[in-house]
Amino acid sequence: MESIRCSACQALLFKTEEKAISGRIEIKCRRCRTINHLRPAEPETDCLEQPAIGEKSCGSMSHSKP
Ligand SMILES: [Zn+2]
Repeated sequence: MESIRCSACQALLFKTEEKAISGRIEIKCRRCRTINHLRPAEPETDCLEQPAIGEKSCGSMSHSKP
């Protein structure tokens, strides 16, 4: 199982099996109300092309603080 945590406060949002997510998910953190955007792992797409050095563009969460 994979623990999905808030990108802002690291609160546990939910747990999921790998590859259980088939589409994009938007979930609001109950603790800090940050909206986390999740997307399924895509092994054959841009994550392999873009060097992830210094950036977390390949991560499944993004910050969206007001
Ligand atoms: Zn949070």
